[in-house]
Amino acid sequence: MSEVDERTIGETNIQEIVDIPMGGKKNVILDATVLSTLMNCPRLADFRFNHNFMSIGGKSNSLECGSITHVFTEYYYKSIIERLKREQAFGFGIAAAELYIRGCKGCTEFVASQELPKPSCGHKPNEFPGVHNTPKDSEGSKTGWQWVLDTCDQYHNFYKNDHWEPLEVEVVKGKVLYEDNEVRILWKAKLDLISDTNQAIDHKTMKQNRNTNSMNSQFMGQCRIMDTQQVIINKIGFQTTLKPDEKFKRLPICYSHARLIEWQSETLPFYAKLLLMYAETGHFPPNYSNCEGKYGNCAFYEHVCSHDPDDRENQIKLHFMIGPTWNPQNDDEVI
Ligand SMILES: [Zn+2]
Repeated sequence: MSEVDERTIGETNIQEIVDIPMGGKKNVILDATVLSTLMNCPRLADFRFNHNFMSIGGKSNSLECGSITHVFTEYYYKSIIERLKREQAFGFGIAAAELYIRGCKGCTEFVASQELPKPSCGHKPNEFPGVHNTPKDSEGSKTGWQWVLDTCDQYHNFYKNDHWEPLEVEVVKGKVLYEDNEVRILWKAKLDLISDTNQAIDHKTMKQNRNTNSMNSQFMGQCRIMDTQQVIINKIGFQTTLKPDEKFKRLPICYSHARLIEWQSETLPFYAKLLLMYAETGHFPPNYSNCEGKYGNCAFYEHVCSHDPDDRENQIKLHFMIGPTWNPQNDDEVI
């Protein structure tokens, strides 16, 4: 990929890395998605966040199901904050989830121009893209969207008498978390939900019961942004065999102060400086151990990385398109 890198490295946006006139100190803006992708595979980070390559085939089934649920909870809790009754809030949540499934022409593949800086439908760019890999009914290993909507209904019923008072949904907060004489790191965190307990609450959907790994930059970053030592994972399971109390769980993940400080003062600057080095040399090396993931292979594995270097630019043109520039508000998942 060296040709592509050289041609476009000047326009990179992982380099929201701006020189500031302070003896060459660099500003680095990072969020959990970029940092974890960088940890997983620098070449993937380059494809995804510098070049904005998006798979033409859309997201995988499990990511689409997660996004439908995410849209539901966003509009559901937003409506509750606006003092609507829970039943009404549920209606708005489901309507938004259905629009995500169907797709809205106005915001899908929207390209900003001077005449039209925002989608005319009033949505965020690409907010309701429609599903590509999720059938109505579950088939084989794929979860159907009807089941996802049913799960939202069960979630609403299960938490009917919820004591949580939601305060903010889908809010992006930023804070300078590190500074030395080389770099200043601005961390951006998207918080799915903040309730009156003042904890960050993160919605996670899953098909299997998994333990939640606490070695997680998203959660540690949220703690540092919110000045807390705990994040609550709002688990929403798609298992058909489990009862509601087995698939809807709210799990606190707690951190000692020492662990959070280690992440903030050692891990974060290490990767920020590594990112600067990659950006400066224009070389983002591949990490072979990330090609096969929990939910299938990396989107670039078959179509790009396993081809000869000379052929990769062609392959990218065939299988990927240029998506919107990454920012933590766009989405919370990588391809
Ligand atoms: Zn729209």
